[in-house]
Amino acid sequence: MDTPRINQSRRIVTELPGPRSKELDARRRAAVAPGVSSVFPLYIERGEGAVLVDVDGNSLIDLGSGIAVVSVGHAAPAVVEAVQAQAAEFAHTCFMVSPYEQYVAVCEALNARTPGDHEKRSALFNSGAEAVENAVKIARHVTGRQGVVVFDHAYHGRTNLTMALTAKNMPYRNRFGPFAPEVYRVAMSYPYRDPEGMTGAEAAARAVEQIERQVGVDNAACVLIEPIQGEGGFIVPAPGFLPAVAEWCRANGVLFIADEIQTGFCRTGDWFACDDEGVVPDLITTAKAMAGGMPLAAVTGRAELMDDVHVGGLGGTYGGNPVSCVAALASIATMEDQDLAAAATKIGAVIGERFTAMQARNPGIGDIRGRGAMMAMELVRPGTTEPDPDAARRIVAACHRAGVITLSCGSYGNVLRLLPPLVIEPELLDDGLGVLADAISAER
Ligand SMILES: *Cc1c(COP(=O)(O)O)cnc(C)c1O
Repeated sequence: MDTPRINQSRRIVTELPGPRSKELDARRRAAVAPGVSSVFPLYIERGEGAVLVDVDGNSLIDLGSGIAVVSVGHAAPAVVEAVQAQAAEFAHTCFMVSPYEQYVAVCEALNARTPGDHEKRSALFNSGAEAVENAVKIARHVTGRQGVVVFDHAYHGRTNLTMALTAKNMPYRNRFGPFAPEVYRVAMSYPYRDPEGMTGAEAAARAVEQIERQVGVDNAACVLIEPIQGEGGFIVPAPGFLPAVAEWCRANGVLFIADEIQTGFCRTGDWFACDDEGVVPDLITTAKAMAGGMPLAAVTGRAELMDDVHVGGLGGTYGGNPVSCVAALASIATMEDQDLAAAATKIGAVIGERFTAMQARNPGIGDIRGRGAMMAMELVRPGTTEPDPDAARRIVAACHRAGVITLSCGSYGNVLRLLPPLVIEPELLDDGLGVLADAISAER
C-alpha cells in the first residue's frame, strides 16, 4: 500500500461504543426496522486497508471485511478511482436497454478465472441471493427437472427461494414461510461432527443415497453447494467429498452448482475454493468480494447451458450496474497485481498457528478449520462437543469493545470466524489476534 490516509493501527480514544455512536444508535432505534440488526453498534465514518475509523475517532481493526467483501481493503485506491470516474460518466442505462463495455469486460474476466477452461458465459445481478435464484432458474430450464438438492448447514440468501435453500431456521426462516417447493436437503460432510474417520467418499455416498431415495435422479435439476460453507460454520468438507458429488452429478445429468459467493476471489488462497481439488462446476455463483464493496453478483456457466435460456429470460433493472462493474474490474486487477491469493494463504498460516496456541490453553476450542484467510474456531463446552454459542457471543463482544471486529456463525451459533482483508499488514493482524487471544483467555 502507498502511504495510507489512515494509519494502519488500532487506536481507541473512547469507551466502545463511544458517545457519538451511542447517539446514532438511539436515532437508529427510532428509525430503522429492528429486523435489520448489527453485530456491535460502532458507527463508521471512514476506512482504509484493514482499519475502520468510527464516528468517535476510534481506529478499529477489521477482521470481517463486511462479511468477506472488501478483500482488497477498504477504499482500495484502484477501486476508488474507478468508481469516481465511472460515476461522473454515467451511473446507469440498464444493460437490457442500452449496453456498455464494462458489463462485457466483467463477464470476460469471470469466464477467464472461474474453474475449468471450457467455453463459458456469464450474467450479472445485484446480490448473492439473486445470483443463486438465477442459477436455479437456469438449471431448471436446461434440465427440464425441478428438484434442487442442498445441504445441511447451507446458506444461500434471504429471498423466498434462497430461504428455502438455507438450512437454519433462526433468524433466517422463522415465520417467513411458506417456502418455495422442490427443495431437498441432504447431509453435508462435516468432519468435526461426522462419525469418526468418515472419508469424503463415504460422506458423498451418504448424500447420494439420500438424493436417489428422496428425490430420484429423473427429478433432480441441480446440486447446489458451498465448497466451504460460510454462514453454516466454515465447514470444510473432507477431501474427496466435492469431487465425488460432482462426479455423480456428471454421470446423472444433474448440474453441479458451486455457490462461491463467500469463498470466491482469492479468499481461500485460490481464485475459487473449487480449485483446491480441481472441481469444475457446471454453474458458479459469485458476489461478495468481486467488486471491492460495490453490489455485484454473477452466474457463470458452461456456454451450452447458458445459451439454452431463451432471449430475455434473465436480467433485471440494475444487474451489472456500470459503477459496480468498474469496481469489479479494479478489484480483480488488484487481486492479480498484489497476488492476494498468496496473501490469503499466508494470513491463513498465521491465524492457524495462533488458533492452535489458543486451543492448547483453552479446552473450549473444539475445532479449528478453514482455508486461507477464511478461518474459524468452533466453541464447545470443555470435554464435550456440545456447542457453546454464549462463549462465541461473549468473545465477539469483547473483541469489539477492544476495537477488533470479529464475527460469529454456525448452525449452532458457536463458531468464531475471521475474514480479514487480504491486504492486512502483519503487525495489524498480530495485534488483532492478540486481542482475540485475550478475549478467549478471559473465558476461563
Ligand atoms: C452471502 C451469501 C449469499 C447471499 O448473498 P447476498 O448478497 O447477501 O444476497 C449466498 N450464498 C453464500 C454462500 C453467501 O455467503
